[in-house]
Amino acid sequence: MTFHDFNFNEQLTEGILSMGYTTPTPIQELAIPVVLQGKDLIACAQTGTGKTASYLLPVLHQISSQPNREHRTTTLVLAPTRELAQQIDQQVEGLAYFTGLSSIAVYGGGDGIVYEQQRRGIQNKVDILVATPGRLIAHLTSGVLKLNDIKYLILDEADRMLDMGFMDDIMRIIRDIPQERQTLLFSATMPAPIRKLAGSILRNPEQINLATSQPAQGINQQIYNVHNEQKSKLLIQLLREGNYTSTIIFANTKDEVKRLSRELRAAHVKANAFHSDFEQAEREQILLDFKNRTLPVIIGTDALSRGIDVEGIDLVINYDVPSDPEDYIHRIGRTARAETTGTAITLVNERDARKLKSIEQMIGRSIDVCTLPAELGEAPVFRDSPSSNRRGGNDKRRSFKKKKGQGNNRGPRPNNPPGS
Ligand code: AMP
Repeated sequence: MTFHDFNFNEQLTEGILSMGYTTPTPIQELAIPVVLQGKDLIACAQTGTGKTASYLLPVLHQISSQPNREHRTTTLVLAPTRELAQQIDQQVEGLAYFTGLSSIAVYGGGDGIVYEQQRRGIQNKVDILVATPGRLIAHLTSGVLKLNDIKYLILDEADRMLDMGFMDDIMRIIRDIPQERQTLLFSATMPAPIRKLAGSILRNPEQINLATSQPAQGINQQIYNVHNEQKSKLLIQLLREGNYTSTIIFANTKDEVKRLSRELRAAHVKANAFHSDFEQAEREQILLDFKNRTLPVIIGTDALSRGIDVEGIDLVINYDVPSDPEDYIHRIGRTARAETTGTAITLVNERDARKLKSIEQMIGRSIDVCTLPAELGEAPVFRDSPSSNRRGGNDKRRSFKKKKGQGNNRGPRPNNPPGS
């Protein structure tokens, strides 16, 4: 299948070409025809699958194909975080470049100038509004924003929005939107509250369920079993000796992120932390540097794992194992995006061994264990780790338990090409 099969108008087709998309991804193949038919849709799809374009393209096609189009805000995309809102807006700008459609991202934070820019953008009636719920409500209550021309309502990462406590805000916003509309709900997971929300705001939706909770095929997943005191040393070694150009490190807390940033800098590894203590402009600059490859390493918590849309990230390191297996999928999904390849390395200490077990259960397979470099000392063996009980049966598996007194010359495997 190619994008020509959707018969998008010329201007949109040009935009798709300029973005470098040649073949629709699976979610795009499934979702685009449904949206073009005007149906409501509930789609279970992870970030990294091309889901944004799967709703943007048919909506952009419909709006830009209207003859004598009036200048009205007909599309509202709700997203949980400002980073995701900005990324969606950037995709709109790229895809809609030749259509003449306009868009704005409206999100919280920022100073009075940003608020004023958003206010003016809203007053000018852009075609597509991409917003986080809280800030959108601020503009609604100030009276500057009216949603009575909305024809397309999209909820992106709906599960994340509910996790972040936006349920009431979403319902408040929907009260202002005409009932006669097309509603599309995208979510990485489908827990009961999401199904309930879908039941109350969608009409006879088509459902698409792309095998969720599974990492992309192109991710080469590895683990190192480590004692706590070995973690930072291993991290520095992986970063120094690997041939990776773009790396994200995830830690479970903001304090840990800050500590790691200090440690890496002290070890002369060029890295920057990304967390909520930074001003918005600083956060944007860090993301830009990372995107432009002037910053090779970025460190963040799970807040960074959803939404960050940077192509060519070839290594994800979980400095801690996330508590929720879904977060593991989201974190490692930052690499191997849109069917490329990448490597995801997770450091597992004794306390995290149980969490790893849940992850392995969810993905339905064991993750390869790498041998700890000898100079870092002996690796631990965990009673609870399923990985520790499966040596010998798996050709790809490397023994991580070093016999006493026996040198271990095998270093980490970061030199492997991604996906090897
Ligand atoms: P998403 O899942 O929407 O966050 O998209 C992940 C990344 O894939 C983004 O960088 C998109 O620009 C890119 N992308 C989306 N669709 C395609 C496609 N058909 N071909 C190549 N890249 C794509």
